[in-house]
Amino acid sequence: MNQPLLERYRQRLPISSATPVVSLNEGDTPLIPLSGPPAARERGVSLFAKFEGANPTGSFKDRGMTLAVSKAAEHGAQAVAAASTGNTAASAAAYAARAGMKAIVVLPAGYVAAGKVAQSLVHGARIVQVSGNFDDALRLVRELTENYPVTLVNSVNPFRIQGQKTLAFEVVDDLGTAPTYHALPVGNAGNITAHWLGYSELYEDGVIESRPRMLGFQAAGAAPIVAGHPIEKPQTIATAIRIGNPASWQGAVNARDESHGAIEAVSDEEILRAYHYLASREGIFVEPASAAGLAGVWRWLEAGRIEEGATVVLTLTGHGLKDPGTAEREVRLPEPVPAELSAVAAAAGL
Ligand SMILES: *Cc1c(COP(=O)(O)O)cnc(C)c1O
Repeated sequence: MNQPLLERYRQRLPISSATPVVSLNEGDTPLIPLSGPPAARERGVSLFAKFEGANPTGSFKDRGMTLAVSKAAEHGAQAVAAASTGNTAASAAAYAARAGMKAIVVLPAGYVAAGKVAQSLVHGARIVQVSGNFDDALRLVRELTENYPVTLVNSVNPFRIQGQKTLAFEVVDDLGTAPTYHALPVGNAGNITAHWLGYSELYEDGVIESRPRMLGFQAAGAAPIVAGHPIEKPQTIATAIRIGNPASWQGAVNARDESHGAIEAVSDEEILRAYHYLASREGIFVEPASAAGLAGVWRWLEAGRIEEGATVVLTLTGHGLKDPGTAEREVRLPEPVPAELSAVAAAAGL
């Protein structure tokens, strides 16, 4: 049985014997070697996918939520609240249920994938939909937690970032060293900040001799860090990163600059190419936002920007089942056929 994340990395996390560990045995997700895309093979680049969809609620958010909710419990909180593009809501709802707390989640109406809404509801969260985008929801939930007795569990809560840094620890545990590059999608920018923190702690303690170059990818219609200013009406099919004014903006810029990395934009078409590639060639079903890292790396590979022999880790942030709507739009379900062998064989292309 795998251990709670907070037990595995206890020495590197801000917990004590007074912290009640609220856990779903999160983390310890598979690091899967990829066979392509062809541009990687041709250039002798090794690609690995850290599949965060294998977490208990289906996204990396569980790494930060186990710590944020455990600390909230330690401080006697009765309720937690978060603004969310969906996965934070699902995770907060699950961990709050486990801790016997109330969860309040504020969502941008109409822009949260169906699986995430369903999870939050069934876990028993109180859902508030606002007519606005994620940035509005985050502003409101911050005001809510300043005025009412509820603990904020968005990634502006420092325990979220602390928990999420464990992804870097697991990569180093598995590879025995740091990769040359680490690529991931960037939305509110907590995760790239957390990855860099994790690698940096290991580097400072002499566990690894170098840190990876961090490659962050935003969706083209929601790329404030690339543009250098907030985006008022962010738009992308990758709803998990549909964010116009990231809370951890500075953390992302520091990770980029200190690692000699990059933060770039990828189009929805590039995201969907990577989404289909991962599912149909590698057998890994992710939600659209999670494909942004591969979309960006694919472009870097084709432009010859990644050197031969490099190792690239991609954080695949969330499970494809989260967003059945995109899947249904992208692939067509065939019409039923009569219940007869010949009809079934013909429909099966045999
Ligand atoms: C939250 C989330 C992101 C974005 O992470 P940030 O820390 O907000 O940058 C990307 N993909 C998925 C699936 C997410 O749930």
